[in-house]
Amino acid sequence: MADRVNRLPFFYGNIAREEAEGYLQQMGSGAYLLRQSRNHLGGFALSVLHSGRCYHYTIERESDETYAIDGGKSHSSPMELIDYHSQEMDGLVCRLLKPCNRPKNMQPKVGPFEDLKEKLIQEYVKQTWNLQGTALEQAIISQRPHLEHLIATTAHERMPWFHGKITREDSEPRLQNGPRTNGKFLIRQRDVNGSYALCLIHEGQVMHYRIDQDRAGKFCIPDGKMFDTLWQLVEHYSYKPDGLLQVLTEPCPRPDGDTDVLGQSLLPRDTPRFGSLFQNAAGGFFARIKIGPTLGRQKSCGSRHNTPDKFNPYEMGSNGEVTRESLPMDTPVYDRTYADPDELRNSTVYREQLILEDEELGSGNFGTVSKGIYKTKLTVQQVAVKILKNDDDSPSMREEMLREANVMQQLDNPYIVRMIGICEAESLMLVMELAELGPLHKFLQKNKQTSIANITELVHQVSMGMKYLEEHNFVHRDLAARNVLLVTQHYAKISDFGLSKAVADDQNYYKAKRHGKWPVKWYAPECINYFKFSTKSDVWSFGVFMWEAYSYGEKPYKGMKGNMVLQMIESGMRMDAPPDCPEEMYGLMKTCWIYEVEKRPAFAVIEPRLRQYYYDIAQ
Ligand code: ATP
Repeated sequence: MADRVNRLPFFYGNIAREEAEGYLQQMGSGAYLLRQSRNHLGGFALSVLHSGRCYHYTIERESDETYAIDGGKSHSSPMELIDYHSQEMDGLVCRLLKPCNRPKNMQPKVGPFEDLKEKLIQEYVKQTWNLQGTALEQAIISQRPHLEHLIATTAHERMPWFHGKITREDSEPRLQNGPRTNGKFLIRQRDVNGSYALCLIHEGQVMHYRIDQDRAGKFCIPDGKMFDTLWQLVEHYSYKPDGLLQVLTEPCPRPDGDTDVLGQSLLPRDTPRFGSLFQNAAGGFFARIKIGPTLGRQKSCGSRHNTPDKFNPYEMGSNGEVTRESLPMDTPVYDRTYADPDELRNSTVYREQLILEDEELGSGNFGTVSKGIYKTKLTVQQVAVKILKNDDDSPSMREEMLREANVMQQLDNPYIVRMIGICEAESLMLVMELAELGPLHKFLQKNKQTSIANITELVHQVSMGMKYLEEHNFVHRDLAARNVLLVTQHYAKISDFGLSKAVADDQNYYKAKRHGKWPVKWYAPECINYFKFSTKSDVWSFGVFMWEAYSYGEKPYKGMKGNMVLQMIESGMRMDAPPDCPEEMYGLMKTCWIYEVEKRPAFAVIEPRLRQYYYDIAQ
């Protein structure tokens, strides 16, 4: 959304309301402009001129991915809201008549936090999950909306004015030490759950203002404005007193010597000096985040925007700390580092290292998949073990399984099930990472309350895995919701490489010698007609997979036989959109089902489209 809004000529970015008034006063009644909200994350403010006076409306971003002026009609985007109010007053002081565009050469103003965000996210991911390189990059791409929220809600811990849990008595000498400048301030955490205090100097005296935090995590000084974050509160009160005796002028640095300048930069008219921000990065940074259980939890916070069927990964814990659902990187399978030097990717798994459990995860032509435990000298991990049926001692089955193992061994991506090794014992066994929640279609059939944002998050992850296969010249040939396994509700992995092939660089397709036992409803017409498989035929399957995901695990082309499906495709017809499927996503599915191979988009095109849509709708 941010990108689309940034392109609007009447969007000014992070400017204060007084600045907005300055621009509007040069125009006539009905002139309007849009700016970034300074107290709601992801929200906006609409400023309108009417009969010589300016009016300001907050546009909040709601948890169901819509935008509304408090108490007003919900809209899918700020642009739609503006279009609506250009026709209807509906509670506004007048209709929006004329956009007040930015002066020539002026770009939307970037707030001090926006400026820092990228660095903070990188640092956060690096420190919290000890990730580097591609794993770090992929984590940020797939989890950006959550990471941005985490950063925004915890960034105050890095500010020099945030003194942590100290008493009122401890705070006073800190403020009185050195020059007692009017407006010198700090924020401390009170003993009371989820409550803070703003302490500031006014005419030599220290004043203490309580900052309450509601169950949705919003902050306010009693009777004052609500803010999503403490840094927005500081930014606001440094512009205007708004009920305080004094504006905030100068952060009182923590006595630990961490005199970082971030706090100062949030004050007006100050030149940002962010260079030293990470020089003192301490361990335990952002330590207040606790990870909640991964499943079966409805959000419990009392936000007025809560709707039971939407997923909001953030909650307030009983001690006032932010808790959240687990992210892919919290799981041991995200970036399985080889803690034990003896453990090599292509190593053999010895039978004594493996304990097979009774729990069967699934079965197929080859035999069964069981849960197991794999032990090395230094690590113990849960695994999934594909066990070849013993009674079926046919060499072809064995070869097939070894071929699958050979493909998997060459792949290394967070969104693809990794192989750990092959074990030759009572049976041939393929040992893999465990994706405990099993196939996506079954999960969605049982969890119909899963939000569209959550589904899009998973679909996007699959597109990242498929983009990786495309880049490495592998065709999967069996992409379907049954072969997308869930590690958690927010972490999907592509599995089942039984039909996969490496394709030569110079010839970008694989030609099968004969028709096999094929999942034809997932296959592109050129696969059935000419036995030709390429990443573009995987793209077709990806469209069918998307259809399965947005229809909550329904069977595609229900009740139709394979040959009828082919006839339907050849006649130009395609499956209808699943109910509730976002238009943008159905549009994308249809491009995956373009008949001509060369006109179908590659995963390199699909992934960024999905990413953008996911960022737009995710909180
Ligand atoms: P075939 O290879 O004959 O087509 P299949 O596609 O059913 O069989 P798999 O998908 O590899 O075979 O495995 C069968 C089932 O086992 C899966 O549907 C899934 O429920 C479970 N399973 C497979 N791999 C894992 C894993 N890594 N973690 C958890 N469950 C798994």
